[in-house]
Parts: sequence; structure tokens; C-alpha cells
Amino acid sequence: MGIHNQLCFLASLALVIHAGPILQHADEDEATAERYLKSFYNLTDETISVRKETSSMTEKMKEMQEFFGLKVTGKMDQETMEMMKKPRCGVPDVAAYSTFGGIKWQTNKLTYRILNYTPDMSRAEVDESMERALQVWAKVTPLKFTRIHSGTADIMISFGTRNHGDAYPFDGPRGTLAHAFAPSPGIGGDAHFDDDESFTFRSSRGFVLFLVAAHEFGHSLGLSHSNVRGALMFPTYSFTDPDRFSLPSDDIRGIQSLYGKRMIFKKTSTIFKLKLFSQLFTMWYYFKGPNRDRTPVKPDEEVTTPNACDPDLVLDAVTTLRGETVFFKDSFFWRKSQSRTVTQIPIKHFWSNAPDNIDAAYENQVQDKVFFFKDRQVWAFKGITPEPGYPKTLSSFGLPSSVRKVSAAVHDKTTGKTLFFVDKVYYSYDERAQKMDTGYPKQVENGFPGLTGEVTAAHISNGNIYLYSGTNVYEFRLYSKRFLRVLKNNFFLALLVELS
Ligand SMILES: [Zn+2]
Ligand SMILES: [Zn+2]
Repeated sequence: MGIHNQLCFLASLALVIHAGPILQHADEDEATAERYLKSFYNLTDETISVRKETSSMTEKMKEMQEFFGLKVTGKMDQETMEMMKKPRCGVPDVAAYSTFGGIKWQTNKLTYRILNYTPDMSRAEVDESMERALQVWAKVTPLKFTRIHSGTADIMISFGTRNHGDAYPFDGPRGTLAHAFAPSPGIGGDAHFDDDESFTFRSSRGFVLFLVAAHEFGHSLGLSHSNVRGALMFPTYSFTDPDRFSLPSDDIRGIQSLYGKRMIFKKTSTIFKLKLFSQLFTMWYYFKGPNRDRTPVKPDEEVTTPNACDPDLVLDAVTTLRGETVFFKDSFFWRKSQSRTVTQIPIKHFWSNAPDNIDAAYENQVQDKVFFFKDRQVWAFKGITPEPGYPKTLSSFGLPSSVRKVSAAVHDKTTGKTLFFVDKVYYSYDERAQKMDTGYPKQVENGFPGLTGEVTAAHISNGNIYLYSGTNVYEFRLYSKRFLRVLKNNFFLALLVELS
């Protein structure tokens, strides 16, 4: 990452800011795509100025479609457009920790000042949240933060609503939660919090100020977003008990790439080099999905992030999806792409009207549809677009009305059959004939010798069928039903964590 990249990004940022009036008369969809790809996929001005040369735009479009698991066409289609119009974080989609060309403070001694307070919390709680949020970074680097009460600090912290004195007004409740500027003199390093949000000290209701601030200060110090699920710099908010917070290793690697490790003998001389640019990082934390409803989180329903590496993890459902494997747990899913990276995403970010805590899911590759099951209802999507006519009931798949829920489902594209697991039996549905096969339900134990428990999730991969039961996965050959081995539930996810 050299100066060239920094300048490239700055040029594209400037263009984004002025994009509105320039593109006013252009086709609206095309303008949206241009803005989006410039903002998040480093599509540059030079590329677009030569209108005949569209291949770069196509490439960037493909990159974006791949990132989101859409059909990779390189063309604007409905689901691509829908994804582009969803609220999201304002910085590019990148892998693992990332910085913006290494922009950093040229000193390890930084000052901060809290200019005003939110009415949501006591002053002492705000002070402590900010102090602890800075210490998150100070603990693993040579950085030292000193609070000042007057004059200009490196990091000026303030709460504001709507227009609050910079060029980036806040948007009311939800949407943008806060934003911060990358290291530089003046506004650089400053962190602004949207006071139309409800901030809390440690409750799972509202946004924990400490967590939001720790993320924003990562930007104040020069970090961009990470796509490592669970990283502090991951672009989505998830509740963690602030008293148990520890900085994930991806963030540690990120910040140490800029400032080095914490040293016992401090460097005594550092040259403060002025940087002539500042970079804005806007954070659109979206909490309950793009529908932006203000559904309060029930106190007994803490939004916590499941741990992919937990060997006792019991998954809700697993399915393939356009060449990836998708694992569901509570209100989240993990995507395992062909490049073996794992991303954790709230279900509602992709499928805004899908339920949380689903019972089962499967993909019909021929129809290019994915089905989600919860209780007696079934939802269907083509990519992320809801299929008309859904949700339907289980009886639309020929299941008897006595079935209250499906615990797992899997589709075999070769035979066109979908297996539905219900307690300790399973049904076989013929998708082509649209009827249940005769001779079912069968005992799972008879169809899959050795498997005596309830099947809670299932998927097919490389000619094998994987049946999840409790914390174990049973691997069988798909057609011979020969039992191969028992794996832990986190096998696919944990393996990936090691590889990524
Ligand atoms: Zn601001
Ligand atoms: Zn951010």
C-alpha cells in the first residue's frame, strides 16, 4: 500500500461526495452502481470517464457480486440493485484487517477531549466508556492517551444529531451510529456519535457506547474494516459484555501493523509529520436489518455473537447456496466461500423478512431458490429476493398436518429429491413430480445406519451427505449410505478458521 493507493482512494472519495449533482441526469440505476462501486470497490474516476471502456466496471461489479454471494454476471440485475440499495457501512469491502494506505499518527502520545455528553448515560459512565475504549488499543501498542479538558486534542469526541458541524450530517435513529476521521491534523482522529441513538453503559438494549467507541477509535488510529467475523473492526455491531471484552487477534495484528507492539523501552524521538489529508470513515451500524424498524431488543433475548469455533456449537441449519455453504445459528449465518473465507452476517442483512432461529434450510439448485423453515412456515428466496406467494405452510410440500416443524432439510439435485427430517423419521419429496414419495416416512436409523439421534441440519457436499445431530456430524456416502466418520459440529467452520 503506497501513496498511490491513498491518493486513488481520496480521489474516489471526493468524487463520491460530489457524485449527486454530476450524475443527476444519468440513468439512476447506473448512477447508483457507479457510486457504489466507487465507494466500496475502488472503481476509479479514470475508468468511468472513458465510457466505451466498461470492462473495469464489469470486473468491479463481479467482485461485488461475489462478495455478497449473488449471481456473478458483471451486470446490473435486480438482486444486485437491491443489495446496493441496502444500508451498509461506508468503507470498502476488504479481507481481514486493513488500513488506509498506512495513514497513522506520527507520535505515540495522543490526547483526547470529550466535548459534550449524551443524556442517555451519566457523565461518569461516558468518561469511563471512552477511557476504556482507548485502552483497548493502548494495551497492545506503545500508544498513550492523555485526556485534556480545554484546547484542541488529537481526538475530539462529541455527540451530535443531524447537522453537527461537518459535511456529514447524521440520519436520526438507526442507520449511521457514529463516524470517525482517520489520523491527520484538524478534524482527523475526531469521533462523532449520533445522539439520536440510544447509548448504554453495558446493557444489551441500545448500543454499548464502549463497543461503538472502541470501533470508532480504531478508525481514529488508522484502521479500516475487517471481514473477519468477530473482529472489533467488522462492520456490524453485535453485543458483547463490556466486562468480558478482549480485543480479537485480527484487530491486534491490524493495530500493531501500524504502531508496533507495546515496548518496554519507549522510543524517545518521533518526528511528527503533517499529513495534508483527512479521511472520513462513516459507520452505518445496522442492528436489526435494513428495514430499520425500532423493535426494541427484549431483555431476555440478548443479541450475542455465536462462536464458530465452539466445539459444542449446535447449528440451526446448513445449506449450500450458489456454490457456498451457509451455516445458520440464532440470528446469524456464516458463509464459507470457495476461497475458504468465513464471514458472519446477521440473517436480516440478506433476507430482511426471514425469521431468526430457523429450523431448517435447503437449496434447490435447478430452480435457484433457497428455502427456510420455521415452525409450520416456509420462506423462499431467489438469491436475496423473496419469492412471491411465500411464506407457505409445510403442507405445500406434501408433509402431513401432524408435522409441527421440520428439523432438517436437504436437496439432492441429481435425483431431484428433498429429504425432510422430522424427529427420528424422514420424508422424501419429489420436487419434479411435486409429491411425497411412497414408503415414507422412514426411520432415520434405517436409512442411515448408526445414526440414532434427531437430525438437526443437513447438507450434501462432494458426493457425501452430512447429517448433524447434537454437537456431531455424521458423514455418509450419498447413495450407498455407507457410514464414513463422525465429526464435530464446528468441523467445517473451525477448519476454515485455521486456514484463513
Ligand atoms: Zn461528524
Ligand atoms: Zn467502522
